[in-house]
Amino acid sequence: MDTIHIPARITGRFPYMFAGKNIGLSVLQGWCQTFETLCQDIDAELGDDKRGFHWVQCKEKLGMARWHWDMGPDQDRPDVITKRVNNAVVKTKHLCGVCGEPGQIDLEADWMLTLCPAHTQENRRQQKMDRLSRIKAPKGVGELVLYLDFDGVLHHENVYWHPKKGPYIEAPAHYTLFQHTPLLELLLAPYPDIKIVLSTSWARVHGCTNAAKRLPPSLRARVIGATFHSKMDRHQFNETPRGMQVWGDVVRRHPKDWIALDDDDLHWPKWCLDKYVKTNEYEGISDPVVFAEIERKLADMAACLDLRAWSC
Ligand SMILES: [Zn+2]
Repeated sequence: MDTIHIPARITGRFPYMFAGKNIGLSVLQGWCQTFETLCQDIDAELGDDKRGFHWVQCKEKLGMARWHWDMGPDQDRPDVITKRVNNAVVKTKHLCGVCGEPGQIDLEADWMLTLCPAHTQENRRQQKMDRLSRIKAPKGVGELVLYLDFDGVLHHENVYWHPKKGPYIEAPAHYTLFQHTPLLELLLAPYPDIKIVLSTSWARVHGCTNAAKRLPPSLRARVIGATFHSKMDRHQFNETPRGMQVWGDVVRRHPKDWIALDDDDLHWPKWCLDKYVKTNEYEGISDPVVFAEIERKLADMAACLDLRAWSC
């Protein structure tokens, strides 16, 4: 027998109804009065011979009660009982599951449940609190952040995925995966406080942790997250231009300052352009002009931090 979540005043009044085999008996507090009246009516209907009547399953589904019953072996199921149970079940559709007052299903709720106006308000408040507590504050608030793309930055942009071999580059043989990571290590070495947020599609496809594993330990240790996270709408994120993906993360994360390395220069917001370094699609950050620009922007960003520290 499964657990019974029904007030003792009901099980005590009609013990035979709860003595048979069941797969879980649970009635919401607000529906107990209706359930008790139903048990009383059935009891009266059965008279002295209870014929093995018992509840098999009582639960809530899609905002209303589901109350299933059975009779002993070789007993007919009286139509009048079927009718009474169905009527009571339909009634619960309009009764608050918490207090039993008139109510309706709250379509804004996380799950369907009939609630009175007062409990609808309380439930919405509670859900709001639950949602807020589930959203973790992103890392990197008030820090210096480098947004990092992989393809066309740390290696040639023409990267494909083979189901057995994994990622590979389709380009002349001297281009290899992550060939420029030592250069990025070199660029970042003077700035141990700069964190990395992955803006590459590798993070969306393989997850932030797996994408970060592709980096050497010194860079991996700087990674605090990605512009894509699992609570986002994947399709909508894909449709958003890279610059807007990064800008969205800046708004969410509130870094003190940031720069972004990316070979994709389409649709970057105008106000982000001074923070953006367009890398060479084939040579990535190894292009001397690109390398020098990153070096300068990193120095500016770090100087800006120094200045702000003085002004505090
Ligand atoms: Zn209520």
